[in-house]
Amino acid sequence: MDSSWRPERTVSCPYCGEPFLLIVDTDCAEADYVEDCPVCCAPIEVAVRWPLGAEEPELALRRGDE
Ligand SMILES: [Zn+2]
Repeated sequence: MDSSWRPERTVSCPYCGEPFLLIVDTDCAEADYVEDCPVCCAPIEVAVRWPLGAEEPELALRRGDE
């Protein structure tokens, strides 16, 4: 597999609700990081769960202030 490939997902910001394109920024099975919303600039907590053998990662987006 091309290691530079990153899956992209259209997601909705948990703050402003606007859809935007999120590039999954990990090669790991599990990752948690913060991505700023490109629309409202709020810090979104992104949790990636990528089970071994799965073609697509599971994403969960949360507000950091909850
Ligand atoms: Zn937003």
